[in-house]
Amino acid sequence: MADCLFCRIVAGDIDADIVRSGELTVAIRDINPQAPVHILIIPKEHLASAADLTPAHGPLLVELTTAAQWLAASEGIAQSGYRLVSNVGRDGGQTVDHLHVHLLGGRQMRWPPG
Ligand code: 5GP
Ligand code: ZN
Repeated sequence: MADCLFCRIVAGDIDADIVRSGELTVAIRDINPQAPVHILIIPKEHLASAADLTPAHGPLLVELTTAAQWLAASEGIAQSGYRLVSNVGRDGGQTVDHLHVHLLGGRQMRWPPG
């Protein structure tokens, strides 16, 4: 989608700090990090949010998870722990309408989230 920020990052039209590129996903550092480690794992395919995932996206869901595991290890937070979150819609706090999973770590996360 030409007017989608993350589609443009995936296409290479907009610069980003890419930390992993897989078959189905790209991972970039968040431009406004909320933790010492804050990475966005983004499907190459445009999907508006997790609400658009179907059983046919099984391989994508696997890669979103295994990419997070790989990144947690490479960022040195696999043992200390981390949070994976995907915001959906207005009340979920989603601001970019292209599915992405936040990988947050390097500090103690709080619960409940704000
Ligand atoms: P959401 O609010 O949709 O869950 O998450 C969107 C995330 O994208 C935010 O954490 C925001 O900081 C990040 N973001 C927005 N624009 C850009 C950008 O141009 N580059 C990068 N790397 N991150 C961005
Ligand atoms: Zn998109």
